[in-house]
Amino acid sequence: MKRFARLTTISALLFAASLPTGAAHAQLAPSAAAPTQASDPSEARKANIVIIGTGGTIAGAGAAATNTAAYQSAVVPVDKIIASVPEISKVANVKGEQVFQIGSESFNNERLLKLGKRVSELLKQPDVDGIVITHGTDTIEETAYFLNLTLKSDKPVVVVGSMRPGTALGADGALNLYDAVLVASSPESKGKGTLVVLNDEIHTGRDVTKSNTFKVETFRSPFGPLGYVVEGRTLFFRLPARPHTMQTEWDIDKLNKLPEVAVVYAYGNVNPASVDAAVKDGAKAIVYAATGNGSVGDYMVEPLKAARAKGVQIVRASRTGSGAVIRNAEQPDDKYDWLVTDDQLPQKARILMALALTKTNDSKELQKILWKY
Ligand code: ASP
Repeated sequence: MKRFARLTTISALLFAASLPTGAAHAQLAPSAAAPTQASDPSEARKANIVIIGTGGTIAGAGAAATNTAAYQSAVVPVDKIIASVPEISKVANVKGEQVFQIGSESFNNERLLKLGKRVSELLKQPDVDGIVITHGTDTIEETAYFLNLTLKSDKPVVVVGSMRPGTALGADGALNLYDAVLVASSPESKGKGTLVVLNDEIHTGRDVTKSNTFKVETFRSPFGPLGYVVEGRTLFFRLPARPHTMQTEWDIDKLNKLPEVAVVYAYGNVNPASVDAAVKDGAKAIVYAATGNGSVGDYMVEPLKAARAKGVQIVRASRTGSGAVIRNAEQPDDKYDWLVTDDQLPQKARILMALALTKTNDSKELQKILWKY
């Protein structure tokens, strides 16, 4: 790998000037670690950040500048993306590494594990201060949640994407990438778990979800973002409440395979055969993306009970997009030995259940895990 570029005094000054003051920070996030702004800005050093490319729209290109939503994703190499944002070199020493060149809809367990293990390797290097991952937006929330639960480092890891390709009018990738590098370089981002940065906002990988198919303000967290990044400043207003990275029971270095967990989506006239298919296919758990507060149609109860009788864990989740599913409310979970999600969306409950099943198959323990993370 290339060595990181050397620090220049001017860029160090620029970067140091971009950090918030200690007083402002203390007001915004009292329980966070104090910022490490050098008293003499010339002493500040630029952070060493590795930018891992995985594809997505941020690596996409369209036929015309007016193609904001119709284009080919995952075609521009990460080094070319980095070179197209020269402002980045003023705030950090960066180097690119292409791990994948795919649309994020093509992520699967194997690719997730490969990415996580590479990130973990890089985080162990003393000369690496933080990681930025360029990623498609479709499943950014799943990758970020997975890394948030399995990385064993308090160094910043920021996942970033864009909604428009670099060729489009109003392309958002360049600023998003610049902002992601700023966040990954900021001492304030340490110990906050895996972050997702897009559209001037910093989200926790646990909460964030994509909510619109084409708008740049698509990412939302039900309880709001952790902060903003604006004019070169990283502004945190909240801290993640749930355990992550150093505080969890999973270590990416020790994970070599994830158990199969299927998501079955509920709708009026949902076909019970989808439950049977998941069981036949060897699913160890089924996350049932149920209607409302995890309600289950009368004709779906028996197929789900039959799956449980075969040893498959049943997790009631909600397709509504937010809110916790309440145990023993819509269905007698104690009686059926079923589980409920907390507020995890079905696709995030899938990640958490797969990890949980690497530790236990005891439903009481699994329920505790679903409520904890
Ligand atoms: N399909 C693309 C992906 O997730 C969309 C995007 O990046 O915005 O890779």
